[in-house]
Amino acid sequence: MSGARRVIVLGSRNPGKLREVRAALARLPVELRSLDAYPRVEMPEETGETFAENARLKALALAKQLGLWLLADDSGLCVDALGGRPGVRSARYAGPGATDAAKVAKLLCELRGVEDARRTARFVCALALASPEGVLLEVEAACEGRIIEAPRGHDGFGYDPVFLCPEFGATFAELPLETKNRVSHRGRALAELAGRLAELGDEWMNG
Ligand code: IMP
Repeated sequence: MSGARRVIVLGSRNPGKLREVRAALARLPVELRSLDAYPRVEMPEETGETFAENARLKALALAKQLGLWLLADDSGLCVDALGGRPGVRSARYAGPGATDAAKVAKLLCELRGVEDARRTARFVCALALASPEGVLLEVEAACEGRIIEAPRGHDGFGYDPVFLCPEFGATFAELPLETKNRVSHRGRALAELAGRLAELGDEWMNG
């Protein structure tokens, strides 16, 4: 191998996402940079109605500003008993700047009294990879689970402590990161993205 690495900036300042993306792309010749390395960059507003639209608009706007390849993630939790909310508004669900604990508390409050069988939910993740010239790749994946009644576990971020993954009988916050990455919405979307980049051979490194 030549040792050459393609610089890709992750369009997020969320350290939880950065950890997961770095682990998932570890086998590719990629130098993944955090948006924190570019403090002056302006995050576009997430005005899309779908995860895919938001991922695309973030990837394009940031790739153009930075003149670099940009990987944007838009993700969130869709709860069936809430008609799919918080959905694309998962980050802002409990108001701007609310902590993860506040978001979880609001969710549990809205679901109070909802029986176990009706607490089904899924995490969804849309990824868009763009160069300054346009979108290169887009993928989307989901992970099915259930919202439990009280938080469990201390790993992960966001809604992880209340999202029960039936395959393991554990919340995402109770699972080691490698296990979460194998089954999670983001892990699945990243695996597909990595596979599609690998299929392109060296073309994407030099293009
Ligand atoms: P955005 O994609 O940055 O707009 O925000 C997504 C929001 O959804 C995050 O702030 C979290 O609250 C939530 N979220 C997305 N992925 C996960 C995950 O893997 N675990 C827990 N919460 C998540």
